[in-house]
Formats: sequence, structure tokens, C-alpha cells
Amino acid sequence: MKIIVLKFGGTSVGSLKKIEKVVKIVISYVKKKYKVIVVSSAMEGVTNELLLKTQNIAKNFPEEEKDVILSTGEQIACALIAGKLNDLGYKSRSWLGWQIPIITSGNYSSSRIIEIKKKNIVNYIKKGGIPVITGFQGINNDFRITTLERGGSDTSAILCAKFFKADKCIIFTDVKGIYTTDPNLTKSAKKIEKISYEEMLEMASLGAKVMQPASIQEARLNRIEIDVKSTFSKKNGTIITKKRNILHKNTIRGISFTKNDAKLTLVGVKDKPGVAASIFKPLYENSINVDMVVQNISPVGRETDLTFTVKLEDLSKTRKLVEKNKSIKFKKLIINRNVSKVSIVGVGMITTPGVTFRMFKALAKKKINIEVISTSEIKISVLINKKNLKKSVEILHQEFKLSSSL
Ligand code: ADP
Ligand code: ASP
Ligand code: MG
Repeated sequence: MKIIVLKFGGTSVGSLKKIEKVVKIVISYVKKKYKVIVVSSAMEGVTNELLLKTQNIAKNFPEEEKDVILSTGEQIACALIAGKLNDLGYKSRSWLGWQIPIITSGNYSSSRIIEIKKKNIVNYIKKGGIPVITGFQGINNDFRITTLERGGSDTSAILCAKFFKADKCIIFTDVKGIYTTDPNLTKSAKKIEKISYEEMLEMASLGAKVMQPASIQEARLNRIEIDVKSTFSKKNGTIITKKRNILHKNTIRGISFTKNDAKLTLVGVKDKPGVAASIFKPLYENSINVDMVVQNISPVGRETDLTFTVKLEDLSKTRKLVEKNKSIKFKKLIINRNVSKVSIVGVGMITTPGVTFRMFKALAKKKINIEVISTSEIKISVLINKKNLKKSVEILHQEFKLSSSL
């Protein structure tokens, strides 16, 4: 049995017309003698609208109920796809996470799939049916509906490929594949033919929304090759695969960026051992993810300035926690919402000296100020003023010759 998982994102099922297109794609794979499993996200914008409803009705909307609401968008999209397939003479039905069931563990809003029970779906496929599975959701041990992190239909699809032992997993989206940078930001972005799990994971974690980071983790762990392509074009997409399968010369593979960071600087912090831990402890306890951190020793006595970034959505909570933190003393708290993090990513960095210098020099030449820096083996990130985002990405794209590579 040749099984293929086809996943469609929000923009691909964004209207009834687009769903008709999706259905045509599904049928084309049935005609190629594949046993097709469809995984769908909610129609474009629906999950955000649902989230807004929970926020507008209550200050502290219970997490459990939030997941019940947020998961409903996928139910609509899947029923529309299955309904249209039936109308065209193909046996199909929708499958909600709890009906399969897709078992999850962990917190609401960020659950992890631990198992997908196969029996019902496999029986259905064997009888010639096309299951249309809701992405982004599951059920936990308390028999409550859960959702994965945002963008989690990618993970649902990849784990369907794992549990159903699919031959192929295709992620259909609104761009023609993975690009050197977001093609919606700059025209110079170039489609990548093949990218390693490691580089894709880094690009996704640093802001390339095209794939959910957790989904790439799962693909890498389970060695599942992913094909990312457009719902609206027949062109080849991008293969996400093992490093070993890739031959390329470029040091840098791509540039990612974020637009939803905030920078906080604590000026004049009393510098003593454990001070950073005292600042970050309450943030950790409240599940706030601190990203970039830099600490400067101030020339004035035993004082220091400490700068860090958090997601914009966590800013007000972070601010309150810092201001009421009795275990630290500081003179002033400065907040900046107009920042963006720009990152260059590439495994070639490990063996190529001078990448950091080239990045900084290219930005300096255009008078772009770097506010914070962080690095890992295969990426360098800088925090800059948001107004310089497009310019910075384009300069770095040029500096590392990303348009002419691949
Ligand atoms: P879907 O609805 O199919 O899940 P998403 O909106 O989650 O799609 O992701 C697709 C979007 O990701 C594209 O429209 C594009 O703007 C953005 N994107 C960001 N970085 C990249 C990149 N490096 N390559 C391709 N797309 C990217
Ligand atoms: N509908 C969900 C979201 O908007 C899941 C997804 O799109 O993958 O986050
Ligand atoms: Mg997505």
C-alpha cells in the first residue's frame, strides 16, 4: 500500500474556490494510485478570529476551553474537503483528532502528539476511503481536546506520515517552497531545492513561518523527508532532508527574521552573583521565553545594565514581573517594541571563518546599528531597529550571494 500524506495550510483552504483546487490535487494523487491521507489546517484567519473571541469575552479564559474553541476551525475545513470529494464521487470522511484518536500530552495550547491510533484509518483506507484529518489537535489522557502550538498542522501531517508509514509527505502552502528568505518580504528571495533538517529547524525557529519548528524536530527525529510546495503551482518545491543528501557550496543557506520581539533593558542593576538568575526566575515560572540576553558591566561602581528580549505578546506580563520582583534592584526599565531580529543560518558557518565579520561589516556599511547579538554553531542573530528590517535582509542576501547560489 503506497500511502501519501497531503497537508494543506490555511491559505490553501482559505476560500471555497481554493478548497475546490485542493480537492483536485487530492484526486490527482488518487489517480496516481496512492492511498491518500489528507491533513488540513483551518481556513485562513479563522484560528485568529477564534482566539480573539476567547480574549474578548474573559481576561482569564481557561486554557482547556481555549483549545476546544481553537480546534474548531480545522473541523470546518476538513468537512468541506470531505464533502466536496464525496460530491465528486470519491469516498471520503472527516476525522477529528479525538475520533482517531490522536493522543497528546503536555500543556494545553502546546501539546505534543505521542501516538496516533492507526486501526480505524487503515481500515478505511483499505476500503478505498480518503480520510481527511484535522491538523493542530488531539486528545489527552483526561479525554480533553488539546491543540499543538500555532502552525501545528505541519506536525500533525509529519506524525501521520510517521505512524501510517507513508511513502511521502507533502506540505502544500501558499509559496513555491522554502526560500532563502521570506519571498513576501523581498523579491531577491530564491527558492531552495533541498535543505537539511538542521538548517530548516534553525530558520523556522528564527521566524520562517513556512514550517512550524516542532514539525521539523519530528521530521528529523523520525527521518521523514518532506516536500514543501505550492497549492497553486505545479512547479517543484523544496525537499527537507538529511544533510548527507545535500550538495551545495554556500556557507549561508537563508535569512530569517522576526517582527514580534520586544527589548527590555534594566539600567543600573546591582551587580552580585545570582542577579541574572533572580531576574529570569519569575519569567521562567510564568512560561515566558527569554531569547537574546546581553549584560554590560557599567563603569559606575558595581552596577550593570542587562538587556533581553521576549515575544511582544509576553511584554506586559514580563514588565509586571520585573517591576514587582523584590529580589533585584535597578534604576530604570527601558522598553523598546520597535525591534526585529535578523538571523543568518547555514551549516557551512562551522567550517568557514569570517562570517560574523562579513555580516557586521555589511550592516555597518549601511549604517545599521546592531543592538544585541547572539550566535550558535549554525546561526548568527542580530537585533536591529524594525524600520531597517527589509534593508538589512536585502544587504545580507547580497553579501552572502544567496540569489545566485543553489
Ligand atoms: P500555511 O497556511 O500553508 O501553513 P504559513 O502562512 O504558515 O502557511 O507559511 C507560509 C508563509 O511563510 C509564506 O506566505 C511566507 O510569507 C512565509 N515565509 C517566511 N519565511 C519563509 C521562507 N524562508 N520561505 C518561504 N516562505 C517563508
Ligand atoms: N490553524 C492553526 C493555526 O492557525 C494550525 C495551522 O495553521 O497549522 O495555528
Ligand atoms: Mg503554517
